[in-house]
Amino acid sequence: MSKNDYYEVLGVTKTTDPASIKSSYRKLAMKYHPDKNPGDKDAEKKFKEISEAYEVLSNPEKKEAYDTYGHDAFSQSGGPGFSEGFGGFGSFSDIFDDFFGDFGGRAAPKRDQRGQDLKYEIEIDLREAFTGIKKEINFDTLIRCDVCGGSGSERGSGMKDCGICGGSGRTRASQGFFTVERTCSSCGGAGQTITDPCSSCSGEGRRRKNRKLEVNIPAGVEDGSRIRLSGEGAVGQNGSSPGDLYLFVSMQEHPIFGRNGTEIFCNVPISIVDASLGGSVEVPTVSGGRVKVKVPAGSQHGDQFRLNGKGMPTLRSTSFGDMIISLIIEIPKNLSDNQKRLLKEFNDELSHNNSPESSGFFSKVKDFWDGLT
Ligand SMILES: [Zn+2]
Ligand SMILES: [Zn+2]
Repeated sequence: MSKNDYYEVLGVTKTTDPASIKSSYRKLAMKYHPDKNPGDKDAEKKFKEISEAYEVLSNPEKKEAYDTYGHDAFSQSGGPGFSEGFGGFGSFSDIFDDFFGDFGGRAAPKRDQRGQDLKYEIEIDLREAFTGIKKEINFDTLIRCDVCGGSGSERGSGMKDCGICGGSGRTRASQGFFTVERTCSSCGGAGQTITDPCSSCSGEGRRRKNRKLEVNIPAGVEDGSRIRLSGEGAVGQNGSSPGDLYLFVSMQEHPIFGRNGTEIFCNVPISIVDASLGGSVEVPTVSGGRVKVKVPAGSQHGDQFRLNGKGMPTLRSTSFGDMIISLIIEIPKNLSDNQKRLLKEFNDELSHNNSPESSGFFSKVKDFWDGLT
């Protein structure tokens, strides 16, 4: 049986962005979902086709293989990195969970009891990113109940079948024309509840707490760096293992320095006279030091100098990037009459040789105009 083009199936093209592919898939999957079309074989077939197309087009590697080899990429022998078994009803849980919830009558995966991951946003400045820094952070989390040790039960008490779901861990309810099965909210899907819950944590095995934690921000972090602190997230229910804490680093703008990865940029203004005669400027470095930079006579606006190793440290390494200095040549403003007179006098002394760029430009302009006639 020949297969339809995956792009046509989803009503998208090769260049459609992933978010639009996802949204197109959602719309179609909603429309053809078997629960909305009970007994309709065509809808079921269509639904499988949509799911199969999305499975491929939502995965960059599979998409690339499909773009190159078409359906042959996934023939019997299997393409690179491709696993069998899509088209069933269990293989697209990620997207389904967020729009069908527990609909669909498929068996819900056993709820992961691991505690929640937490996100903490931390803003640091360039100097802190340069040296690395220890910071104390403060956040609300869930910690193990110390009265019951996380078990949730008052000392010595046991478990009984959940009164809401009768021990199955699932509840059913009719919604419209289909039946919805959900994880029992009372027992969290476990099917069992505690006979005598801990009075301190109401049987949760954990309690809220504002926690202080000293965190290490390594030298070289960048805007958008994410640091994972394993096991520092919220504790799970009934003493199960904690999630992770993620630090999201954002950088404050620096008034003098710009940054791109390990490179530091600095614009240094110099006068038209210094640029003409040459001289030296003292520039600050991100380490807090200063460096004298020789400016050759005849330097131009935008000329750059590279200072090796004066940039940012490389994350988890001992090497440093470079610093790039760009000259900003400042044209004098608010001239006095005498200054104007001196400049005019100076101008009278100028020859073509003093401004090769302009001379070159105007001779090219002349050639251009001559060439037009
Ligand atoms: Zn407790
Ligand atoms: Zn229950």
